[in-house]
Amino acid sequence: MNYSKILKEVKAEVDLLELEGHIANYIPELAKVDPDRFGLHLQCIDGTHFDFGDSQMKFSIQSISKVLSMALAMKLEGVAMWERVDVEPSGNPFNSLIQLEHEHGIPRNPLINAGAIVIADILVSRLANPKVDFLTFVRKLAGSEEIDFDLKVAESEAKTGFTNRALANFLKANFNLKNEVEEVLDFYFHQCSIAMTCRELAETFMVFANHGCLLHNGERMLSASQTKRINAIMQTCGFYDEAGEFSFRVGLPGKSGVGGGIAAIHPQQYSVVVWSPPLNEKGNSAKGMAALELLTTKTGLSIF
Ligand code: GLN
Repeated sequence: MNYSKILKEVKAEVDLLELEGHIANYIPELAKVDPDRFGLHLQCIDGTHFDFGDSQMKFSIQSISKVLSMALAMKLEGVAMWERVDVEPSGNPFNSLIQLEHEHGIPRNPLINAGAIVIADILVSRLANPKVDFLTFVRKLAGSEEIDFDLKVAESEAKTGFTNRALANFLKANFNLKNEVEEVLDFYFHQCSIAMTCRELAETFMVFANHGCLLHNGERMLSASQTKRINAIMQTCGFYDEAGEFSFRVGLPGKSGVGGGIAAIHPQQYSVVVWSPPLNEKGNSAKGMAALELLTTKTGLSIF
């Protein structure tokens, strides 16, 4: 497969698209990002890398971190966690309050905000130093010590995260939050603020393409069954009320974030990360989705 040639074509075709998109501004610090940034990094299972554009620039991974926190919770808590959070697609916006009320405080899945806040609660209970230990886990997956929280982004979200506070309070009222609301949200806002380059994030997601083992040293981080389940949840729930559209157009398990990133994997083939800040009306990177659709169309490598 001539990935270099294919990626050049993808870039040229995406450049010609005039897509509607808006930067997330409900977290003021994210609104400062240059909307014209665009990077892509593809890492293949044989260790080869292909990229273009701003693939070495750090961006806020935001909700993509929910896959990493879910993975750590699955290791630490095991199947008991599924009593507190479901695994069904939400078909609703990522921060929906209505759905949580209808479902009596059991979030639809771990990749919407309510579900990720329950996962954050599990990690706050399980980890001795939650923020430090979570960062250590992410650095291990990435094979890099260069990964950190962006404290300005975390602080900015803490100041304006009223909807997340409402979700956390509702979870607490329904006995689905064991720790204090502010402690859990402090962890959650920090996990979302992690900054990574496309390359670092592609390396991190390689574990999900490699049946749970790190590619760089073969160490097992998750069982094959846990990895299968994580990929299934990404496939059905990774793009909120656009999960069906992403499956339809791209055909890979993946996860988006309001920072404009999308990480996706093809089991036993590759991981790919694209970053373009303007979001479509569903909160997913408009150009990022288009780029991944072109990639899987041109390579013929989707999981379907
Ligand atoms: N930190 C953001 C929030 O909780 C993450 C949302 C997202 O990336 N979709 O609102």
